[in-house]
Amino acid sequence: MARVVVVGAGVVGLSCAVRLQQAGHQVDVIARDLPLETTSAVAAAIWYPYRALPVERVTAWSAATYNELAGLAKDPDTGVRMVEGTELHRQPTPDPWWRSAVPALTRVTAMPPPYVDGWTFRTPVVEMPLYLRWLTTQVTEAGGTLTRMALGGPPVGGDVVVNASGLGARLLAEDPTVAPVRGQVLYVEQFGLERWWLDGEGPTYVVPRSHDVVVGGTDDEGEWSRTPDPATAARILERAAVLVPELTRARVLRHKVGLRPARPAVRLEEDRDVSRPHRVIHCYGHGGAGVTLSWGCATEVAALVGPA
Ligand SMILES: Cc1cc2nc3c(=O)[nH]c(=O)nc-3n(C[C@H](O)[C@H](O)[C@H](O)COP(=O)(O)OP(=O)(O)OC[C@H]3O[C@@H](n4cnc5c(N)ncnc54)[C@H](O)[C@@H]3O)c2cc1C
Repeated sequence: MARVVVVGAGVVGLSCAVRLQQAGHQVDVIARDLPLETTSAVAAAIWYPYRALPVERVTAWSAATYNELAGLAKDPDTGVRMVEGTELHRQPTPDPWWRSAVPALTRVTAMPPPYVDGWTFRTPVVEMPLYLRWLTTQVTEAGGTLTRMALGGPPVGGDVVVNASGLGARLLAEDPTVAPVRGQVLYVEQFGLERWWLDGEGPTYVVPRSHDVVVGGTDDEGEWSRTPDPATAARILERAAVLVPELTRARVLRHKVGLRPARPAVRLEEDRDVSRPHRVIHCYGHGGAGVTLSWGCATEVAALVGPA
């Protein structure tokens, strides 16, 4: 059994912690922001491979996560549900590059203008506040700990450190290639919406949850502000109402911003710096798909750490 310190309590760090515990390791999680304060808590969160590379690894991680989340959806306490929805396009579009990661995808034949193409599929929708609480409970009930601590560098201690610090890897891994892609969303009251909708050409999506509907979004590269902008919110709502006209009458409940940890490619590998006092495995840079990649990546991290 290894003593593993996981840095980061977002969806990536917590999923890694659970998988490592399942493999028999002793796991302690350290994080500057607790789960409900992370970018992960802002995610919409629909299973959808968005702004994450490389294609082959992302497709494989996404497929593995789809299966895991579909299993978790059988237990309502997890906050995961399988929901059908539609992605629409304004021009004829081939099947998405991640097509093989979902069991079925059906082309739509009738759609409102300005859309001319699209597809429907069933996918996990994850209510992040519930799900992050559920993941945290899994970690602590299996004997793990969660400690708030802002680190100035990789922690010392344990046999292995898993660096799941998202944007924090700019500091903790001295990696300037991780950069924020700002996403703003608003939440409206649930008005009976049961399907998700997505505009394939832009960051426009509408995701129903049990008590509200998430409406997004934006993807501003290199933008660090976490303050919601009212004019941006109005434009998001206008774009989203093309997909779901009822949104024009829905009551707005609140606004949020999250900074996606984007990187030219997800970094999931063991650090080759042998001067470190213990092994370090990096798992960060999941961009707009941290939820979608979480279980696939966590399984690979556990394989890298090795057997207990
Ligand atoms: C508006 C929006 C909508 C999104 N929608 C979706 C979606 O529908 N589907 C999807 O799959 N993804 C979605 N995403 C993307 C997803 O939220 C991210 O990819 C995911 O949250 C990344 O998770 P993470 O655990 O790597 O990072 P984070 O959630 O950011 O967690 C990082 C953790 O590391 C800790 N940390 C950082 N630095 C330090 C330090 N120095 N010391 C100690 N701890 C540190 C932080 O405190 C935090 O606990 C969305 C994102 C946004 C903003």
